[in-house]
Amino acid sequence: MRELVTLTIDGKEVRVQPGITIYWAAKAAGVDIPHLCYGEDIHPISSCRLCVVEVEGMKNLAASCTYPVSKGMVVHTASERVMKARRMNLELILSDHEITCITCEKSGSCLLEKYAYQFGISESVFTGEHRERNEFPILEENPFLVRDYNKCILCGRCVSACAELQFDSAIDYAERGFKAHISTAFGRPLQDTTCEFCGRCISVCPVGALTEKERVRKGREWEFQVTSTICPYCGCGCTLEMHTKDGKLIKVTTPAKGTVSRGNLCVKGKFGTYYINHAERLTMPLIRKPGPVKGTPTGKGTSGAGAAKGGEFVEASWDEALDLIAKSLREIKEKHGPNAIGGLSSAKCTNEENYVFQKFMRAVVGTNNVDHCARLCHSSTVAGLAKAFGSGAMTNAIGELRYADCIFVTGSNTTEAHPIIGLEVKAAVKKHGATLIVADPREIDLAGVAALHLRQRSGTDVALFNGMMQVILSEGLEDGEFIEKRTEDFEKFKSVVMQYTPEKVEKITGVPKEKIIQAARLYARAERASIIYSMGITQHTTGTDNVLSLANLAMVTGNVGKRSTGVNPLRGQNNVQGACDLGALPNVYPGYQQVANPQLQEKFEKAWEASLSPVPGLTVVEMLHGAEDGSIRGMYVMGENPFLSDPNVNRVKKDLEALEFLVVQDIFLSETARYADVVLPAASFAEKDGTFTNTERRVQLLRKVLDPPGRAKADWQILSEVAGRLGYSMRYNSSANIMEEIASLTPIYGGMTHDRLQGFGLQWPCPDKEHPGTPFLHKGMFSRGKGLFSAVEYIPPAEEPDREYPLLLTTGRILYHFHTGTMSRRVDGLHAIRPDGFVEIHPDDAAALKLSDGELARLTSRRGTVTAKTVVTERSRPGTVFMTFHYREAAANILTNDALDPVAKIPEFKVCAVKVEKAAGGKGKAGKAEKIRA
Ligand code: SF4
Repeated sequence: MRELVTLTIDGKEVRVQPGITIYWAAKAAGVDIPHLCYGEDIHPISSCRLCVVEVEGMKNLAASCTYPVSKGMVVHTASERVMKARRMNLELILSDHEITCITCEKSGSCLLEKYAYQFGISESVFTGEHRERNEFPILEENPFLVRDYNKCILCGRCVSACAELQFDSAIDYAERGFKAHISTAFGRPLQDTTCEFCGRCISVCPVGALTEKERVRKGREWEFQVTSTICPYCGCGCTLEMHTKDGKLIKVTTPAKGTVSRGNLCVKGKFGTYYINHAERLTMPLIRKPGPVKGTPTGKGTSGAGAAKGGEFVEASWDEALDLIAKSLREIKEKHGPNAIGGLSSAKCTNEENYVFQKFMRAVVGTNNVDHCARLCHSSTVAGLAKAFGSGAMTNAIGELRYADCIFVTGSNTTEAHPIIGLEVKAAVKKHGATLIVADPREIDLAGVAALHLRQRSGTDVALFNGMMQVILSEGLEDGEFIEKRTEDFEKFKSVVMQYTPEKVEKITGVPKEKIIQAARLYARAERASIIYSMGITQHTTGTDNVLSLANLAMVTGNVGKRSTGVNPLRGQNNVQGACDLGALPNVYPGYQQVANPQLQEKFEKAWEASLSPVPGLTVVEMLHGAEDGSIRGMYVMGENPFLSDPNVNRVKKDLEALEFLVVQDIFLSETARYADVVLPAASFAEKDGTFTNTERRVQLLRKVLDPPGRAKADWQILSEVAGRLGYSMRYNSSANIMEEIASLTPIYGGMTHDRLQGFGLQWPCPDKEHPGTPFLHKGMFSRGKGLFSAVEYIPPAEEPDREYPLLLTTGRILYHFHTGTMSRRVDGLHAIRPDGFVEIHPDDAAALKLSDGELARLTSRRGTVTAKTVVTERSRPGTVFMTFHYREAAANILTNDALDPVAKIPEFKVCAVKVEKAAGGKGKAGKAEKIRA
């Protein structure tokens, strides 16, 4: 521990850490020094000179943002000399700043306005040469920001934030003297630069030069109500401050401290939640009145919209809709038994709602047929990590990543799918010197900052990891003590792994053996090595094997149970972790308590006062396929869209058509909802309270920002009302009340209450009310006792390219859209940036197919055909094409294979064989999906 430094600030003795600046020492002493160019977390440049202070013994005033403290220093922060200098500096800045506070959007939170007011300056005494009025055009060329550099004071905060916090350099200073301004390279429109529209530049701008476009003319800063809640998109769990006025969302910000995202947001969190104001929100219950199919449904989500099964939707009262649901479910149950009904819960809904949903299916309907989209993204994680470690969740915390010595990212396009975690990885590399290894068939963004990029063939991950472990064991780089004391089944595992020589693995994976050896050494020699993975690993018929193999890699090097190490699956949706935790799975009650265990069955029967089935239920894909043979007759879908999210869409369509009764509860009339008999309007994330659990097991509080539109209600309230009509009283009066019940039955959530979750939330396990939560798992002992090695052999994908279908299709996400696009595609700005579906093709393949950039391509697999716009790029490997699944008109899941991992039942979204041809129609928008009607 270094000795503290004692100094005097404004007559007060202060003891602070050596090396900090006077600014921070003053802050510690409760003295706030004015500043314009300095922003916390960015490098100080001392250009505004507003933070100057007087240091006894120094001739000149010192800029407190850069000047370090020293022993015995005597500082005056508000002496006459200091105030005079500040006043002059302020007047100099104001001499070149148009004072337009009357109309400026920033008025009320502008720092220049604040300091001018404090100093009583209404105009500058400097009347000499200055910038022309409206020297710069107001830039509104992009969908998200307005840039008015006439108001800019050239503090440089936006330039520093872009470079140092976002690790981008989309903007910089341009020109000199009175022409000096901030610009993109060559003044290009922002969307033609590397800018990702994170909006951090707006949040650090101290004046009104940068403004959210949606916010313009919507009100004064002091008129907005600000409510803190959690982002509804990915599993990072960023905090959103929602600024609202008159029942509408105006803008979104995030606090700089005390959150997962440390003041950053991605474009979806910053600009992508306006869908809650969208005119297509469901506002009334809808009942399908049978009739002929009238062609493509209107998609309006209102009365009169055509239903995909024929007839049209008409508005109904809640009583009519709920009575019909209760009657239909009761009839199916009486005729075919409770297991003829299936339910899809939702990773978009709160923990409390997922708890109530699975309880509804189990205690009210009487079946364990409950599942959700985790089946399609991380069920292999849950199965694999539970087997190896005893817990199927991310082992470590997001904030630990930047202190890892080595990070191995595989099957995760982190900067696009989990942007805030992507920033943590970049911070680890660029600020803390970590070594990054990326194993991904695509040239993803992180490959650009990696020490090593391994481009394995899709579906050969087990071979690659086995190859790395073969090198580790051959070169004696394993952690023998860890293996000996903390693991079991090592010898069996070793005997398999040793067969995977780098030469053999090179043949399987296409990765040069030298790179395999180098990766093994870099990972194994690091003091703290962390693995990050996502759906590139899990969505395979060997998904569970892939996860087990990564668990082996961490254990063989002793990289589990310590800070900044571990095996870290990044969960896709905002609350997919919570939906799993709360038992929206067919084999477990909340807290991963097995339904087949008689003691646990008794525990829940007693608590819920209901008779429960000990037989695990069906998974998502099994339920839908069950409609084909009549084993499933009715389904209740809450906030999921299997029509687009499940593989082999044409089969899903037939399954949905075959159901006798389908109820869908959602915020929009999704593609799945069009097949429903009853559609119920639900509240969005911003219209209810409750909790979400992010990917690092952090349970965070969601707060109600606005009232739901029309007659929409929170999902848990709807479910309680249906349960009541089926003769079961749920008796909840708030989501906090539901959390009390969850805590009483779920040991990992045992210490959680809504009161305790204020602030930064708690990471489970949190077994009791005094427990502080658990940042990293398996310290000293694995959840299952000893870590279990598994001997995992490489098995090829279920479908590989052949003569008829010669290319390999892999799928993934892009930054600007999310999942099936239900939310993100209803945000004008996101849509404007990425309006069309596309297929990425390597230049060699494009040349062979005579396809050029922007042309329409037709892709065909054994399951269907789609057309999409061609993007010719080296991001894809030769022989591999890439599509996203966000676009219904170019739905990749028409093509994907519904072959399942035998353990986790996850489909093989990441590999299937396709043929690609030039489509009729030449250049233009992405084409229509053929053979589906939705
Ligand atoms: Fe939301 Fe994820 Fe973006 Fe954070 S990183 S703002 S949680 S979408």
